Amino acid sequence: MRFKLKIIYYWLQIQFAPKLRSREAIEAFQVKKMNRFAFKTLIKSKFYQPYFIGNKFNWTTVPQISKTEFMAEFNQINTLGIDLNEAMKVAIDSEKLRNFKNDLNGVTVGLSTGTSGKRGLFLVSENEKANWVALVISRVIKPRLFRKQKIAFFLRANSNLYSSVESSLFEFKYFDIFKPIQELLESLNHYQPNILASQPSILMDIALAQKNRTIHISPIQIISFAEVLHKSDKDIISSIFNTKITEAYQCTEGFLGASCKHGTMHLNEDFIRVDKEWIDENKFYPIITDFSRSSQPVVKYKLNDVLEIKNEACPCGSKLLAIEKIIGRDDDILIFDGIKVYPDLIARKIALHTDSFQLYTIEQTGSKELHINIACNEADFENNTTLFKNALNDLFKDFGITEIDYHFDNNIASIKGNKTRKIKRLSYEN
Ligand SMILES: [Zn+2]
Repeated sequence: MRFKLKIIYYWLQIQFAPKLRSREAIEAFQVKKMNRFAFKTLIKSKFYQPYFIGNKFNWTTVPQISKTEFMAEFNQINTLGIDLNEAMKVAIDSEKLRNFKNDLNGVTVGLSTGTSGKRGLFLVSENEKANWVALVISRVIKPRLFRKQKIAFFLRANSNLYSSVESSLFEFKYFDIFKPIQELLESLNHYQPNILASQPSILMDIALAQKNRTIHISPIQIISFAEVLHKSDKDIISSIFNTKITEAYQCTEGFLGASCKHGTMHLNEDFIRVDKEWIDENKFYPIITDFSRSSQPVVKYKLNDVLEIKNEACPCGSKLLAIEKIIGRDDDILIFDGIKVYPDLIARKIALHTDSFQLYTIEQTGSKELHINIACNEADFENNTTLFKNALNDLFKDFGITEIDYHFDNNIASIKGNKTRKIKRLSYEN
């Protein structure tokens, strides 16, 4: 009950928050919030304590970080004195056993891979969880009075972040995307959700099954997250189900934004400050400071995503930053004899097996052919090829895929110069 009361508390806070009617109002609001965040949270972080001078926190000298530094300084950054190795063990054990009781002293520990392929670890406290739920309820999920919403949630890991949302208003069913799609479709059909939430590549599979009459479901809302939703796919999915698609920009680093009723993605700038590292006049890398965090502060953290800004004002009237599209994380899917394997499953499997390298590319060059380039020392190469093969065979086995022809390379230079995707399907078309 205590957790539900917390959700209500945060939900009320969001409802009664001051209306931010201009960019100036947003800026002023953020300055106030960030100052409060420094003295409430950053003061407890060993990493950020040196940036307090007298009674001021010196935001200008705080370093910009990426996932690499964020993990290297894990013990110093988190405010709860949690040790990286201990937390990593909890996260890996729970993922391997797929039991997801990944709690450490009441804090949820989550594992992430992300585009760099390097393992990351995220901590979420109960308060943060309640705040997240409140924000998702107010920005993403359509309210439906007096009736319980059944939500089908397709995830690669059931962090108890999600299953904790259960209440008299919502019922969550988690679908483990490590399972074969046929099995998932059957249980989805049986469940008959009101709301369907998944990554777009799986939404496409579900939509096609609906079209082929393999399944028959009638969701009133579809939520897309975790991958780029291409316009063509969006049109197909919404026409098959005759409903609009809400896009949520959710990653392990936080819940960054959601699309409004006009379909424009607005960033949650009332919780996260977004600085921009411009690539050209429309595209940028977001550098985020999440002033709602408390267990593991996210400060001037550069994401790998490339975002394109929307220049026209949105008719919904919101002044929160509007995004034309999320360009990054636009991963391809590998296809073997018609069986699809999603890139985040591959990256995740590899991250679970080893952490001795950050850079690799996997390219599908034939129906059963993979070219894998690993950036590592020559001495480690042979061992790494074995680890890769084992990790991938282990994953493919679950899909009934066998006899993959692997080609390995140890060409660091070609990877470093390669800003494109880590996993992609090349000439081979299914
Ligand atoms: Zn809008």
